[in-house]
Amino acid sequence: MHRQMGLLRELQALDHYIDHLRQQVAQLDSGERIRASIERTRQRLEEVKTRYQEIYAIATQQEQRLKDLDERIRRTEAELYSGRITNPRELQLMQHEIEQAKRARDEMEAELLRVWEHLETTKHDIDAAERDLNELERYYEAHMEDFRQRKAALEAEISYHLHERAELVAQIDPEVVQRYERLRERLGGTAVAIVEQKACSVCHTTLTPYTLKRLQTEDALIACESCGRLLYDPELAQ
Ligand SMILES: [Zn+2]
Repeated sequence: MHRQMGLLRELQALDHYIDHLRQQVAQLDSGERIRASIERTRQRLEEVKTRYQEIYAIATQQEQRLKDLDERIRRTEAELYSGRITNPRELQLMQHEIEQAKRARDEMEAELLRVWEHLETTKHDIDAAERDLNELERYYEAHMEDFRQRKAALEAEISYHLHERAELVAQIDPEVVQRYERLRERLGGTAVAIVEQKACSVCHTTLTPYTLKRLQTEDALIACESCGRLLYDPELAQ
């Protein structure tokens, strides 16, 4: 049984290493944060594009109103200078109307200028968001390429050691392997403990003389009385 326990100890070292490799795979950054960042930037781009369209619609509307006003001024002026109207009171009213319309026109023009400026700023925001998005997407691609390479390398290593493990398992009594597997599952991955200065190497409980005696004399799997792990005494193997 010492030889079996020696192999089991080897198996456990291998399993711990495979566990470690699997943990490394699980800890690889699969790019979730970058994807979230891309999603946020895409939303920002959509929002700013919508805003651009809204401002553009306002600008178009205001341009049309400005044209209409120009047309009204032009018609009133044509009427004023046509000579058809002779009533001074009426002429005065028309002149007053033209002046008012021209003042309104100036205000409208100034407002339209502000709208155009706003449109320009929003266009810059769109460009900036598009640049950010492109940059993030390039970064994501490079990151994912690296992620896939690392993952593939780790998986190849795991697969190599699983093969090694199968060869080792083939040398151990199936019942012993089964007991080991069950204990490993129940005891957080560690089923085998070493006898170190008459104590269990995992839970550090001092082993009773009875257990130590059994280890020396019995051809059976002996477990730590405290934690239940299978005991292996390297000194006995020599
Ligand atoms: Zn123990």
